[in-house]
Amino acid sequence: MSSLLDMTRVKHLLCLGAHCDDIEVGAGGTILRLVESHPELEVRWVVLGGENPERVKEAQHSAGHFLAGVAKSEVNIFGFRDGFLPFEGEQVKETFDELQSNVQPDLIFTNHRDHHQDHCLVSQLTWNTWPHSVILEYEIAEYNGDFGHPNFFVPLSEEQCQTKVSRLFQAFPSQVERQWFNEDVFWAQLRLRGVECNAPSRLAEAFFVRRLVA
Ligand SMILES: [Zn+2]
Repeated sequence: MSSLLDMTRVKHLLCLGAHCDDIEVGAGGTILRLVESHPELEVRWVVLGGENPERVKEAQHSAGHFLAGVAKSEVNIFGFRDGFLPFEGEQVKETFDELQSNVQPDLIFTNHRDHHQDHCLVSQLTWNTWPHSVILEYEIAEYNGDFGHPNFFVPLSEEQCQTKVSRLFQAFPSQVERQWFNEDVFWAQLRLRGVECNAPSRLAEAFFVRRLVA
């Protein structure tokens, strides 16, 4: 991790995702790196859009794999409809408020405020709910043409990237027909971000950070 943000000091991590595979696609390698380097980590893992029972099963299975080895973890998958989060905004906001009452994270991974309506709402509510935490917004390549210019990079080893990609395919068979759920896309993204931050392994994940406090 960047020397600006010492990962070993992170104790409470919150992972938020609008959809069942968002967290792993956007931040899976960084989570693996964190878990490896910091066994004391306590993680709360929250997915909002768990309407489809098949996808919920996949998400639970996947979270269990990505979090294997952490000191403590809790996975919550809520049953909001995919694509309808802003239209169920009141209940989504109440869900965030309830989480806030018992989750005080040092670091949060959340959706980037892109053009997907569900991602956008989750991102906005993250800032609204935990304005004093370090918030890193992960990126997901999809149809909306939102692939942008992230400003925070996490170099990853080839092994961490291989584990990320193989676990994605093991955990989410329902997604393999989608254009963006593709091995080439995942590796291209990791490689591109690796170039941009001059990663020793040539591989990295990248995030959007709006504010860092020294
Ligand atoms: Zn998504």
